[in-house]
Amino acid sequence: MSSRPIVLLLDDILDALARIEEYTLGLTAESFPRTSMAADATLRNLETIGEAVSRLPPSFRALHAGIEWHRIVGLRNRVIPGDFGVDLDLVWDVVARVLPGFHREILRLRRETDVSGPPMVRETGLVPAVFIDRDGTMNDMVYDGTHGTFDSPRRAEQVRLRPGAAEFVRGVKAAGFRAILVTNQPGFAKGTLTQADLDAVHGRLAELLAAGGAAWDAVYVCPHHPGVSACDCRKPKPGLLLQAAREHGLDLARSWMVGDGLVDIGAGRAAGCRTILVANLKIEQIERFLAFEHGEPDHVARNLAGALSIIVPTEPRA
Ligand SMILES: [Mg+2]
Ligand SMILES: [Zn+2]
Repeated sequence: MSSRPIVLLLDDILDALARIEEYTLGLTAESFPRTSMAADATLRNLETIGEAVSRLPPSFRALHAGIEWHRIVGLRNRVIPGDFGVDLDLVWDVVARVLPGFHREILRLRRETDVSGPPMVRETGLVPAVFIDRDGTMNDMVYDGTHGTFDSPRRAEQVRLRPGAAEFVRGVKAAGFRAILVTNQPGFAKGTLTQADLDAVHGRLAELLAAGGAAWDAVYVCPHHPGVSACDCRKPKPGLLLQAAREHGLDLARSWMVGDGLVDIGAGRAAGCRTILVANLKIEQIERFLAFEHGEPDHVARNLAGALSIIVPTEPRA
């Protein structure tokens, strides 16, 4: 699985399309097959395009179902038949008839997923979100003296906001993102957490955020535990994010997942979002983290203030 961000994969496709156009400029169906450099360059770049398309997250392709992704990946296999030579008429047909439309679509998509511009609702009508992990990211973990472990708060009085939590939620919302909490609460499946406990904890969390002038837009909870009940929503699976995207009209490619755990990075990547690991780790710990399969975040921030400055870069003051 590729860790290359979606925007860069789209850029790879656009570069390859530009190179094909460059080599085939001014050619016709008659002159194309006799120009071996054009044919070679086209085949090589079609391969690049197919490769990049196949590395786009399935959820991203599903979100832009108007583009015939399968057809484009299929082209590569049809025009690169291996030992039996190349059907140059077919390759020319692809260059002249199929690629121009595809090029326009990818260009449009690339503009929509532009990370440098301010997040806006464009013609898709979809809005970007920041998915935020709860325990260890928004609130402190609670030390359990009996078991010597850190665990999720189960009572309202155990809830302590992490530094910068309210500013973070306020900041991303001011920049046009939905703020959506996504949390694994396996205590439900294990029978150690009730809906009333959860309501109390979330009520207190909302109160503390409100005191800082902030409020989230929605909370999504996975109540399952693999030992008890399998599901598609326990992070690192992307189920919570995908459900939120359907219910809130979110553009996952322009969204972020922010959390302190490997599972957060995994879920964000699987959903096609950009990811920030918020962790005050020593460099060797971070390296161990990054070596973990699918654990590589796009960014690492020491705290929520750092994460905010990545998502909403501020102009340097003159
Ligand atoms: Mg966490
Ligand atoms: Zn679940």
